[in-house]
Parts: sequence; structure tokens; C-alpha cells
Amino acid sequence: MTRKKKKGKHIKKSNKRISKSKLLIVALGVLLVGFFLFKGFKFTINGAVEIKENITVLAEAVFGPGYDKSNVNKEKQFDLEDENKDKKKKHVVYIDVGHGGSDVGYKSPGGATEKDLDMQISKLVSNRLSSQGDISVIVSRSTDVNLSHSERVEDGNKQNADIFVSIHMTANEDTAAEGVQTFYRVNSTDASDELATLVQKSIVSYVDLKDRGPKPFTFDVLKDNAMPAILIECGFLSNPTEEKKLTNPDFQKDLAEGISQGILSFLDVQG
Ligand SMILES: [Zn+2]
Repeated sequence: MTRKKKKGKHIKKSNKRISKSKLLIVALGVLLVGFFLFKGFKFTINGAVEIKENITVLAEAVFGPGYDKSNVNKEKQFDLEDENKDKKKKHVVYIDVGHGGSDVGYKSPGGATEKDLDMQISKLVSNRLSSQGDISVIVSRSTDVNLSHSERVEDGNKQNADIFVSIHMTANEDTAAEGVQTFYRVNSTDASDELATLVQKSIVSYVDLKDRGPKPFTFDVLKDNAMPAILIECGFLSNPTEEKKLTNPDFQKDLAEGISQGILSFLDVQG
């Protein structure tokens, strides 16, 4: 009997113990779920676009379609519109397409015209950068028009661009002269040299062109820019071998990728 009683007591005791630890597990579970819900909510706040969409969907479900979305924003405690702007377009890149109109730039013995090649490369770079999603690209010209150096610089400044990239070809009496070179303003203190270095380095890693390095030289389009500014001379149209490369669509694509990747590296570093 005693033995039985003891056994029963023991069982009862251990039952009690089990329910206590069960409670503890449940409490821990609730805490954990609560913690992750909170983390998730914080994450959603960071994803401003997501939460805005959720609110809109919710508002439309409650108030019907056409609910005034602007009111949703106004009623929020935090500034969704500003966060959206930042998320949408983080960087503004100004691509200055060399020459144009009656200013044809260099003309190769083979008949290639610099202004057209500048346009072709610039278009490829613009498309590549625009595909990033967080970069807004502005070009100095999208048609064959004349533009002065100051018009280009002023436009870039007015557009509040983060960087200014001028795209050119070059030529030399010495038809053996070859290679790509990236210029930045002499005595620049705004990271123009850093931008030039990164872009130059990237180009020569993508295409087979002689590396003439980054070099300080104050072209007119690099004079009064309010942001880091560079001018790329993609190659020598006076060199028949280089002309062949520069007019080849596959080569142009790789060249544009090299320029774009250099720009992206710079924007990454700048944050
Ligand atoms: Zn030029």
C-alpha cells in the first residue's frame, strides 16, 4: 500500500513538474514569436514601398477602390514619400555625349565619326546603368545637336547629378598611338581622380585596349562641375586597328560594360 501510495505521489509530482515546464516552453514560444513579429514589422517599415503598398491594398479593401492614397501617406507617422524617393533613385549619373551637330569631333580615315561613336557608347552605358534600378541617367544630348561646353556643365549642375561622365574618342598624327585614357580636373578635391581611376581600371579589365591610365587635365567640360567629373577618351580613331575595335558592336558592348562597372564601383564606395 505504502509503496503504491508513494508511486502515486511520485507520478502526481512529476505530472506537476511536466506542466510547469510546458508552461515555460509555451511562454518562451510566445516570446520568440513576438520577437520575430516585431523584427518583421521593423523590416517592413524599412521597406517603405512594401508597407505603402500594403496600406493601399488594405485601404482599398476597407474603403473600396479609388481610396485617396495621398491621405494614407499623410496619416502615417513617418515620411513615406521621402523614403520612397530615396529607394527609387539613389544616384543620378550625367552622361555627356561628346560633340554633336556641326561639331563632328574626330573623323577616322575609314570614315567613322567621333560624334556618332560617342553617341553609340553613351547609349549603351545609359541603358546598362538604367537597368540597375537605383540609378537615374541623364544625357546631355539624345539627338545630333550642337552643345557648348558650358551648356553641358550647367545642365549637369542643374540636374543635381552625382557624377558627370563625358564620353569621347581621340586621334593623333602618329597612327600607332593607341589606348584608352580617363581624365579628371587638375587639383580636383572632389573624388574626380578616384572616379577616373576606378573607371579606367574597369575599362581595361573588360576590353583589350592599352591602359594609358587616369590623368589630370582640365578640359572645358571638366572646369566648373559641382560633382566628380571625368572625360573618357575611349581610343584612337587615327589608329586603324583601334578604329576597327571601336566600331565593332561587340567591342562597344564590352567597352560600355567596363565604363558602367567602373561607375558602379565608384557609386558603391561613395554609398
Ligand atoms: Zn572628342
